[in-house]
Amino acid sequence: MGMCPLCNGFEKYEQSCSSCGDLLVDAGKVTDFLDDYSAYMEIELLKMVDGNVSSLDDNICMHVISCPTCDSEQMIAVKE
Ligand SMILES: [Zn+2]
Ligand SMILES: [Zn+2]
Repeated sequence: MGMCPLCNGFEKYEQSCSSCGDLLVDAGKVTDFLDDYSAYMEIELLKMVDGNVSSLDDNICMHVISCPTCDSEQMIAVKE
Protein backbone atom coordinates (compact mmCIF):
# COMPACT_ATOMS: atom_id res chain seq x y z
CA MET A 1 0.00 0.00 0.00
CA GLY A 2 1.37 3.39 -0.95
CA MET A 3 0.75 6.68 0.72
CA CYS A 4 -1.82 8.37 -1.41
CA PRO A 5 -2.18 11.96 -0.12
CA LEU A 6 -5.92 11.96 -0.76
CA CYS A 7 -6.59 8.62 0.92
CA ASN A 8 -4.48 9.63 3.89
CA GLY A 9 -5.93 13.10 4.23
CA PHE A 10 -2.69 14.96 3.55
CA GLU A 11 -4.23 16.81 0.66
CA LYS A 12 -7.62 17.84 -0.51
CA TYR A 13 -8.45 17.69 -4.15
CA GLU A 14 -9.20 21.23 -5.22
CA GLN A 15 -10.05 21.62 -8.85
CA SER A 16 -12.96 23.26 -10.57
CA CYS A 17 -15.47 21.42 -12.69
CA SER A 18 -14.82 22.00 -16.35
CA SER A 19 -18.55 22.16 -17.02
CA CYS A 20 -19.92 24.44 -14.31
CA GLY A 21 -16.87 25.75 -12.46
CA ASP A 22 -17.88 24.51 -9.04
CA LEU A 23 -15.42 22.77 -6.77
CA LEU A 24 -15.07 19.09 -7.46
CA VAL A 25 -15.01 16.65 -4.57
CA ASP A 26 -13.00 13.50 -4.13
CA ALA A 27 -15.51 10.68 -4.07
CA GLY A 28 -12.95 8.08 -3.10
CA LYS A 29 -10.82 5.44 -4.65
CA VAL A 30 -12.09 3.80 -7.79
CA THR A 31 -11.80 0.40 -6.18
CA ASP A 32 -14.08 1.52 -3.33
CA PHE A 33 -16.89 1.74 -5.86
CA LEU A 34 -16.86 -1.96 -6.45
CA ASP A 35 -19.13 -4.14 -4.37
CA ASP A 36 -18.01 -6.52 -1.61
CA TYR A 37 -17.24 -9.04 -4.25
CA SER A 38 -14.18 -7.07 -5.22
CA ALA A 39 -12.39 -7.98 -2.00
CA TYR A 40 -12.07 -11.48 -3.36
CA MET A 41 -11.17 -10.57 -6.88
CA GLU A 42 -7.73 -11.09 -8.20
CA ILE A 43 -5.55 -8.02 -8.26
CA GLU A 44 -5.22 -8.34 -12.02
CA LEU A 45 -8.94 -7.85 -12.39
CA LEU A 46 -8.89 -4.78 -10.20
CA LYS A 47 -6.21 -3.33 -12.40
CA MET A 48 -8.48 -3.83 -15.38
CA VAL A 49 -11.45 -2.35 -13.58
CA ASP A 50 -9.72 0.85 -12.62
CA GLY A 51 -8.77 1.38 -16.23
CA ASN A 52 -5.09 1.83 -15.60
CA VAL A 53 -3.09 -1.33 -16.03
CA SER A 54 0.03 0.24 -14.58
CA SER A 55 -1.64 1.80 -11.53
CA LEU A 56 -0.18 -0.63 -9.06
CA ASP A 57 3.27 -0.71 -10.56
CA ASP A 58 3.56 3.05 -10.62
CA ASN A 59 2.08 3.66 -7.17
CA ILE A 60 -0.81 5.51 -8.64
CA CYS A 61 -4.09 5.68 -6.76
CA MET A 62 -7.08 6.10 -9.02
CA HIS A 63 -9.75 8.35 -7.58
CA VAL A 64 -13.22 9.24 -8.68
CA ILE A 65 -13.81 12.97 -8.67
CA SER A 66 -17.36 14.16 -8.88
CA CYS A 67 -19.11 17.47 -9.22
CA PRO A 68 -21.94 17.95 -6.70
CA THR A 69 -23.60 20.49 -8.96
CA CYS A 70 -23.79 18.82 -12.35
CA ASP A 71 -23.04 15.24 -11.33
CA SER A 72 -20.20 14.80 -13.74
CA GLU A 73 -17.60 12.27 -12.75
CA GLN A 74 -14.06 11.70 -13.82
CA MET A 75 -11.16 9.56 -12.80
CA ILE A 76 -7.84 10.97 -11.82
CA ALA A 77 -4.55 9.32 -11.06
CA VAL A 78 -3.02 10.40 -7.76
CA LYS A 79 0.66 9.78 -7.27
CA GLU A 80 1.32 8.02 -4.01
ZN1 LIG B 1 -5.99 7.43 -2.94
ZN1 LIG C 1 -20.03 20.66 -12.55
